Amino acid sequence: MKPVYVTQPVLPPLEEFLPYLEDIWKRRVLTNGGPVHKDLEQALCDYLGVQHLSLFSNGTLALVTALQALRVSGEVITTPYSFVATSHAIMWNGLKPVFADVDPGTFNLSPKHIEAAITSQTTAILPVHCYGRPCDVEGIQELADQYNLRVIYDAAHAFGVKDAGGSVLRHGDLSVLSFHATKVFSTLEGGAIICPDAKTKQRIDYLKNFGFANETTVVATGINGKMNEIQAAFGMLSLKHIDAALARRQSIATMYFEGLALVPGITCALPPDLQSNYGYFPILVDDTYPLERDALYQLMRDRQIFGRRYFYPLISDFPMYRTMPSAAAENLPVARSISQRVICLPIYPALEDEDVQRTIALIHDASAAHQKVAA
Ligand SMILES: *Cc1c(COP(=O)(O)O)cnc(C)c1O
Repeated sequence: MKPVYVTQPVLPPLEEFLPYLEDIWKRRVLTNGGPVHKDLEQALCDYLGVQHLSLFSNGTLALVTALQALRVSGEVITTPYSFVATSHAIMWNGLKPVFADVDPGTFNLSPKHIEAAITSQTTAILPVHCYGRPCDVEGIQELADQYNLRVIYDAAHAFGVKDAGGSVLRHGDLSVLSFHATKVFSTLEGGAIICPDAKTKQRIDYLKNFGFANETTVVATGINGKMNEIQAAFGMLSLKHIDAALARRQSIATMYFEGLALVPGITCALPPDLQSNYGYFPILVDDTYPLERDALYQLMRDRQIFGRRYFYPLISDFPMYRTMPSAAAENLPVARSISQRVICLPIYPALEDEDVQRTIALIHDASAAHQKVAA
């Protein structure tokens, strides 16, 4: 049986990429804010419905730079239920991550727990729109206003996600996207910071280019976070195919929702009526399911279905974090409980219907088989 993975990169037809490469070869401009880089910044602003965006070579450098751009100091409140880069970006700025618990309905940082974690050292909040579901952006902004904190959203999962007022990326002081190969929209490696105004974008553009403001002037201790022309070209081409990719993800999600609705102990973690990009399809395996989460995960692997336990372990359980007071188990009961029950099922545009059905059948049959044994 052919293996299926939690995700697979979306590769547009190779022959469509060749003309982009020929143009780049002819021009001999390979990086440093070349024409394709400029085109992609504009195309993404148009597609996402935002005003200002600065491209990066990857999402992690974009996160690191976003914290630099706002001159964050001291403590940053963040979520343990994310990819490890979220907290690592705080550490790379010499700052202290402080973990707060998540909401049991959305898996996102909850304002109640954020507020309880604020100290005199806190200067910023770094929440994640987990699986692309928007955070309680209003609750978080109220806290930020009240305590004078900056808000940087790790929006790595939130490409194209909208709420009633428009792009979810407009919230907070900055939002950061990842265009890694495994994300909904990819530039092979890549990322971006969404900025509220031209002045902020200018500062971020300097920061990602060593701090150069012009040929002879260095205005900040910048880094090299520049996206190159080949990455940008891959992005331009991918953008042509993004709507088809999102539609395919939606139809796979619909198959999962229908197929798993009646399996006792299995909950689809994103509600079917959510406007999601379905970068992920998380399920929770509860006590009423006859197999433990890890047993189901292993059974899937035995059948060449490589789901992933995103996010397990919690970031706060990794060695560089686990001795921090905020990483203590009793501080993060909700995040821990979700982390012990979650499996993300395969979802990507090239995934075939029969593989979705095979995954659904396995979860069904494992339930039925084990119930019989128990009876
Ligand atoms: C993918 C991801 C990142 C890191 O982005 P890269 O582009 O791989 O550096 C950061 N945060 C979250 C939540 C992610 O999923």
